[in-house]
Order: sequence, then C-alpha cells, then structure tokens
Amino acid sequence: MADCIFCRIVAGEIPSPRVLEGDDFIAIRDINPAAPVHVLVIPRQHVESVAQLQDDDRDLAGALLLAARDVAVHEGIPESGYRVVINTGTEGGQTVPHLHVHVLGGRQLSGHGTA
Ligand code: AMP
Ligand code: ZN
Repeated sequence: MADCIFCRIVAGEIPSPRVLEGDDFIAIRDINPAAPVHVLVIPRQHVESVAQLQDDDRDLAGALLLAARDVAVHEGIPESGYRVVINTGTEGGQTVPHLHVHVLGGRQLSGHGTA
C-alpha cells in the first residue's frame, strides 16, 4: 500500500527507529505518546484492522500479542503493568488504517481509554 504511512515505515521509506522487530512485525515509538511508554506494534503485512483479519491470520494475530508482551519486557514494565489497545474502525477511534497494537505504560492508567 504505497500511500499507507505504516507500510512506508515498515519499508523504511519513513525513518522510524525500531524498539523491536520480528519476522511478522515492527515496533516503534508513537509520535504523540499518551504515556511514558507508548509503543506501536505494526504487522509488516498490510491488514487494515482487526475487522479485516481472516481466520487464517491466526499466527499473525498471535504474533502481535506476543510482540506486545515482548515490548513490555523491553521497556521494563512487565511487572508494573501496562495496557494493550487495538482501536478498530471509525467509532473505535482508529486513525491509521493499518492494524497496530498500542502498548501503553510507565504510569498509572485509569478507565478504559488508551491513556
Ligand atoms: P490509532 O488512533 O489507534 O489509529 O493510532 C494511530 C497512532 O499512530 C497515533 O497514536 C499516532 O500518534 C501514531 N502515529 C501516527 N503517525 C505516526 C508516525 N509517523 N510515527 C509514529 N507514530 C505515529
Ligand atoms: Zn499499510
């Protein structure tokens, strides 16, 4: 997807240091962090959102959750706790139409929002 910002980051066309990366994903810091730790786990493959995941995307979906766990360890917050958020679609507050997982932490979070 040539006009997709996260595809361009995955391709290295937009420089963005990787916190972690794996076969299926990259993890980068959110450009507008809502918490001291705010990392985005982004699949290398363009999938628009959770709503577009297929039944045979089980491995990819699992890899993203395990990547979120690994990001939390990398950021030193596996014990203090953190929030894993996937905004989906317009009313879900998704602004970038390339599936991504927010990992938020480093302070006490409240409520059910992203921060
Ligand atoms: P969402 O609202 O769930 O679609 O989240 C999109 C997130 O991507 C927001 O938190 C933005 O701050 C973040 N974002 C947008 N562009 C970039 C970028 N170039 N690098 C890092 N994060 C970005
Ligand atoms: Zn994309």
